[in-house]
Amino acid sequence: MPTLEKVKVTETQFTMNYVNELYESVKKRNPHEVEFHQAVKEVLESLIPVLEKHPHYIKQGILERMVEPERMISFRVPWVDDYGYVQVNRGYRVQFNSAIGPYKGGLRFHPTVNSSIIKFLGFEQIFKNSLTGQPIGGGKGGSDFNPKGKSNTEVMRFTQSFMTELCKYIGPDTDVPAGDIGVGAREIGYLFGQYKKIQGAFTAGVLTGKGLGYGGSIGRKEATGYGTVYFVEEMLKDKGLGFKESTVVISGSGNVSIYAMEKAIQLGATVVACSDSNGYIYDKRGIDLTTVKRLKEVEGKRISEYVDEHPSAEYTEGCKEIWSIPCDIALPCATQNEIDEHAAKLLVSNGVQAVGEGANMPSTLQAVDFFLENNVLFGPAKAANAGGVSVSALEMAQNSARLSWSFEEVDLKLQQIMKKIYQDSMTAAKEYSNPGNLVVGANIAGFIKVADAMVEQGVI
Ligand code: NDP
Repeated sequence: MPTLEKVKVTETQFTMNYVNELYESVKKRNPHEVEFHQAVKEVLESLIPVLEKHPHYIKQGILERMVEPERMISFRVPWVDDYGYVQVNRGYRVQFNSAIGPYKGGLRFHPTVNSSIIKFLGFEQIFKNSLTGQPIGGGKGGSDFNPKGKSNTEVMRFTQSFMTELCKYIGPDTDVPAGDIGVGAREIGYLFGQYKKIQGAFTAGVLTGKGLGYGGSIGRKEATGYGTVYFVEEMLKDKGLGFKESTVVISGSGNVSIYAMEKAIQLGATVVACSDSNGYIYDKRGIDLTTVKRLKEVEGKRISEYVDEHPSAEYTEGCKEIWSIPCDIALPCATQNEIDEHAAKLLVSNGVQAVGEGANMPSTLQAVDFFLENNVLFGPAKAANAGGVSVSALEMAQNSARLSWSFEEVDLKLQQIMKKIYQDSMTAAKEYSNPGNLVVGANIAGFIKVADAMVEQGVI
């Protein structure tokens, strides 16, 4: 680290040099992990004004510590397929930061999972969890296992093997995983069952997203999608706008996407398009959510089959061009980097007013810059999709107290949390000379709480 005495430059240049050097060292120490680099770059650049105002964070090495996970576990997951052959996948858990609470973050089962994906997600989770105002640290995990095309028993055998190793590192006061892409109610059930069998105890607080019959929170399934819409509603309200009579495009047709559609429709919007990893459907009269839910949640079918039942809708193979559909509000709810600069330009030229990130890091850095330069209201993932982990924390609270809240109670708390995240992010953006920039605001508001806790806890 350069010292102020040695480097004869202005304070701002010093801080920028410091941040650049740190970013270069992250790239060097984590070669080829491009998604992780992307997530770190965005946060570091946002923090320059904070470091200028509070240089003790530099002396305390807070950023150097934050970009290095407290622990990164990778393990072999052997399992037997339906033909009797042994298959091997790789499992991961990154325990990134426990300054303000036990590690908390989902598990992703998808063939694209690698250490870069897990680390970018875990790093983002630190700030997101801090923003929720709940006592939860940052973690994430998963495997390159592809649940698609696997039988139920194959998924169960894989999941049990995964938990047989993971159980050594998690617990209600240490690390509390949940779902993410490819990990829904079925997988959480198998994970919980295996943990219970190994521990010989019913430890409800070890996982969230559980079934309602064994300790899950009502409203968790809806939380991320609803929360994203609540957050975007706050952004729109400030400009005298709303979901009512707006046209909305939502990518994906999984957990986040379906409940973002549901809430947007409830608020009077017309959702004209959604997708899966093969392609997208478009119906200018509005997508029928009941059909999407049945196809995706019950029958496990492809979104292309929607048009068989709704001839007025069109299906297009490939996902990218979904962003060429004119809309007032775009909610990317599928996966990382699904909106690149080209897609951002299409959205802006078609008059998009607001973008709310339901997925994690769905916009590239260039796309984010383009939205901000063109005065599009932009809700970054850390803030906009924090509703899921917020209700997970509420699930932990209910498990500890051995009680259950009603849907109305949980939904009201979710709305209050999303409103507070919006306000805290706006306040931080204004305080650090970037009024209205929620990317900067969310990063700063999330960072300060964790950084202060780290300072108070000493060099550990
Ligand atoms: P699901 O597995 O339920 O759904 C994911 C959806 O995105 C599916 O429609 C899937 O299509 C599509 N998809 C996945 N990968 C790709 C890809 N590479 N290209 C195009 N489409 C793709 O996951 P979730 O809804 O839970 O998660 C979606 C996003 O939201 C992720 O970024 C996740 O990290 C984030 N998130 C989720 C939270 C939660 O509570 N679940 C909380 C906060 C963030 P297909 O069916 O064809 O695979």
